[in-house]
Amino acid sequence: MITAPFTIAIDGPSGTGKSSTAKELAKRLSIDYLDTGAMYRCLSLCAKEAGIEPGDAGLLTPLAQSLEFLFPEPGMVILNGIDVSNAIRTPEVSGRVSIDCAIAQVREVLVERQRAYGQGRSCVLDGRDIGTVVFPNAKFKFYVDCDPRVRARRRVAELVAMGHEADYEQVLSNLLERDHLDSTRAVGPLRRAADAIVIDTSNLSFEQQCERILSIVRAGTAS
Ligand code: C5P
Repeated sequence: MITAPFTIAIDGPSGTGKSSTAKELAKRLSIDYLDTGAMYRCLSLCAKEAGIEPGDAGLLTPLAQSLEFLFPEPGMVILNGIDVSNAIRTPEVSGRVSIDCAIAQVREVLVERQRAYGQGRSCVLDGRDIGTVVFPNAKFKFYVDCDPRVRARRRVAELVAMGHEADYEQVLSNLLERDHLDSTRAVGPLRRAADAIVIDTSNLSFEQQCERILSIVRAGTAS
């Protein structure tokens, strides 16, 4: 049984269910969880409120440095003392986050924060570049993929459950646009680490996707 801290890196495109899965894994394994996408979303939320244009490196970099995050429980995000757990999920934020986070200096600042969070503790981190850039030596690496239409349907249901309005076509086009921007940017692009295990969730229930990952982690921590 492993007692030393270990990292689980989960990457994949938007809306594959990786955040919910990562949260559930952290709960079942009694380890910490960091939603790195929430950090980029916080930056875009602040930028939107400050009237900063998407992709303005000169203003977004100092803004990223100034952000104070707290993650008191999985799914809860406190930014500069305010609960923004829902506010960071609006279509306005989703519509610009992939542009803001493509800036190299912004990624440098937030990747450093992610490494600091994961240092010396067992945790699950989910994002786009966890297994390739943030923790390339993570003990466990997964790449979660899913049919875009299934992802869009799931995202609409999530938004509606949070009380937001959601249009399927708009959500689908935002997901595809973000996939494109995330996988074609120069720094920290979305891609599968060569040693990541691929989990396609298109035909898996939530319980099945959790169990598939959990069984691999349990096998790897048992010796
Ligand atoms: O995971 P989520 O969809 O909430 O992430 C929001 C956005 O943040 C993604 O579309 C992606 O552009 C960006 N992101 C990133 N690197 C990460 C996590 C998220 O570029 N590690």
